[in-house]
Amino acid sequence: MAQKKGRVFSGARPTGRQHLGNYFGAIQNYIGLQDDYDCVYCVVDVHALTTVETTRDLIPNTYEMALDWLASGMRPEESVIFIQSHVPEVMELHTYLSMVTPLGKLTDLPTFKEKVRQAPNNVNYGLVGYPVLMAADILLYKATVVPVGVDQAPHVEFTREAARSFNYRYGTSVLVEPDCKFTQIPKVIGIDGQAKMGKSLDNHIEIAATPEETSKRVMSMVTDPQRQRRSDPGNPDVCNVFSFHKIFSSPEEVASINTECRSAGIGCVDCKKRMAQNLNAYFAPLRERRSKLTENPNYVWDVLHDGDKRAKAIAEQTMQEVREAIGLPK
Ligand code: ADP
Repeated sequence: MAQKKGRVFSGARPTGRQHLGNYFGAIQNYIGLQDDYDCVYCVVDVHALTTVETTRDLIPNTYEMALDWLASGMRPEESVIFIQSHVPEVMELHTYLSMVTPLGKLTDLPTFKEKVRQAPNNVNYGLVGYPVLMAADILLYKATVVPVGVDQAPHVEFTREAARSFNYRYGTSVLVEPDCKFTQIPKVIGIDGQAKMGKSLDNHIEIAATPEETSKRVMSMVTDPQRQRRSDPGNPDVCNVFSFHKIFSSPEEVASINTECRSAGIGCVDCKKRMAQNLNAYFAPLRERRSKLTENPNYVWDVLHDGDKRAKAIAEQTMQEVREAIGLPK
């Protein structure tokens, strides 16, 4: 096998079925990077506890997300796919990193401010430390590349700083500074045509939705707000349906929609129908693989448990080096 270029790490909270934002913002890179890197992908269930009100859905959400990853083309024979809480070394590294992290740096992060805005009554200690735990995830596996959506870039920058601070404080080079890797489409806008696609705003389309569910969501998409009547010419440049056409439709169809929309040759309903059809065709093979994978209900859990063991072996090694670098008694 060809020499790999280094290690990739990425994690996502178990949010259940994945949406187009997760897919084009992150999963596509998870899959592609497997060719050139040793990849470690983690269901970050401990991170999920910072915001969830109940753990009722944690197990099914872990299953559904891992299933989407596998159906998308993650290769468990090569890549390590595991559950964060099953490798508790990350909690230990998190504690050591917290000692070299100025509090103000965490409270200044735009992601933290956003979370406070969303839920001002649930600003717990763990939420402030979210990026420290994320840094521990990445640094524990000595990843050099972290594929994420653009919203996560400040956390990867924080990880670099945490690695530098730790190495400087203890005169070591044990922790490795990683770089972000974005996809071609680092921010997918939701069906409201305004905000980043996400489950909390219910403006998402699941990749594993049925063709009927998908079409229903597409038909409710917000288009060019200036185009009130079928006879009004539209502006594809401000229409999110057109952005999706650019992903799912052929270059010829994109060009023709572009012209026909501007001359009111095509209406929004037909434009959406065509996009939904192309979106469904794009995901048909993935959906079929997904349904095949569910035939063995243990498959996903077997993959994750095998990943736990492989991840733990790497984590134990790094932690030995970390404890030694700090100078903790043996
Ligand atoms: P987490 O917050 O644990 O990362 P999310 O489900 O919010 O979990 O995101 C998982 C991954 O998908 C992250 O890398 C994130 O940047 C990416 N992502 C989520 N939503 C979008 C979106 N609308 N556009 C692009 N990337 C996205």
